[in-house]
Amino acid sequence: MNQKPKRERNMLIVGLIMAVLLGWLMGYIAEIIVLFLIGYIIFQFSQLDRLHVWAQSPDADNIPFEDGALGRLAVHIQRCKKQRIEQKESVKYQLERFRKLISVFPDGVVILSLSNEIQWFNDQAAKLLVLKKRDTGQPINQLVRHPRFTQFLTHMPEDGVIIEAPIAETNFSAEKVEIRVLPYGDDERLLLVRDVTKVERANQMRKDFVSNASHELRTPLTVMKGYVEMLLASTVDDNKYAPPLQKVDQQVIKMQTMIEELLALSRLEEGKAESSNKLVNVRSLCEQIKLELEAVAQENEQTLIFDIAPNINIKGNKISLLTVLRNLISNAINYSAKGGEIYIGWRVNEVGGVLFVKDTGKGIASRHLSRLTERFYRIAENNVLHKTGTGLGLAIVKHELERHEARLIIDSKVGEGSQFQCCFPSERFSE
Ligand code: ADP
Repeated sequence: MNQKPKRERNMLIVGLIMAVLLGWLMGYIAEIIVLFLIGYIIFQFSQLDRLHVWAQSPDADNIPFEDGALGRLAVHIQRCKKQRIEQKESVKYQLERFRKLISVFPDGVVILSLSNEIQWFNDQAAKLLVLKKRDTGQPINQLVRHPRFTQFLTHMPEDGVIIEAPIAETNFSAEKVEIRVLPYGDDERLLLVRDVTKVERANQMRKDFVSNASHELRTPLTVMKGYVEMLLASTVDDNKYAPPLQKVDQQVIKMQTMIEELLALSRLEEGKAESSNKLVNVRSLCEQIKLELEAVAQENEQTLIFDIAPNINIKGNKISLLTVLRNLISNAINYSAKGGEIYIGWRVNEVGGVLFVKDTGKGIASRHLSRLTERFYRIAENNVLHKTGTGLGLAIVKHELERHEARLIIDSKVGEGSQFQCCFPSERFSE
């Protein structure tokens, strides 16, 4: 191996000696040596140029020269080229396998660029979103035209969006599709599309059933309430009948509250609730709630402390925002012991504005926190004293907040109290 560099060096030395001899014979030693060196440099440059042209060609064979330093460099370049070709083949193979795998997925998969242009999609996505091969490279929002989908693409919430499926000319029968987006690679996104027609139909049946049943129960309950009130009035001093009738009255009131709340939830779920985007002053909301609830708090020897600047306004619906505050403050009153303090305040953080209700009550164990906004979810150990709750209040709060693009965050520690934070995006409030 070491022979080749030596040979190259020896040839250079021999060439130089011959140049010196020739120069001496001709009487121009310096000129002949300079000419020889210039020739040598030009030769080396032309060799380098050949190497460069060969290195750039995709062909890994036919090394231009094997001897000398350039020869060794060429062998090294050839090795790297071969490795690169092998790696490329392996990536191509893996990519092909991945594509085959994704094409048999039951869900639709679309690869999007960061500016939402379609890069690739599988057959299922083509069926569910009615995409054609020629749509590759097009922005997806120009092909899937749905206001909720367009809105989804701007915020990309984790829980996705459900929209009516685009109508296909084929007999493919998806009516509703759920769309989610996952970050994928550095500059791509993965859009997952699922046919949720059956689940949505079952959901709709459940909603219709609850809404119809609640409607049907409203009238008989009003009649019952009327008779119970009449009987109560005529048996006020009757020790035998008055106590059981009072219990019946309480239960009827609880059922009426539950039905009203179920109907409110149905309206919210159906998106039928009246929406309004007027500026609502938070201080005046609090004053209204204070008038409603201060007497109850005083009965429980609790103090309501409001700390809201007069200039805070939320863009939204006043009735909805009152419902949110009423539910949160009533809960704080109901689930706090005598002498407790309930603090209602406003703060601004990096995400937006936060309206919060903080109590010094018994607190909530962490295992319940994620389930509190489910319908009818009540915590048995917290409800020993407060038995009239329906378990629907926080579900309503969550829905009312969603109408304002706001989120409910619950923090609590057993024995220390709870904090319910309503987080509004910055475009929803002004200070
Ligand atoms: P309800 O109060 O009618 O039972 P909610 O949906 O408002 O229904 O609340 C669900 C459950 O969460 C309540 O039953 C209660 O156990 C618990 N909870 C709500 N707010 C608080 C609070 N501030 N402190 C402790 N527990 C609470």
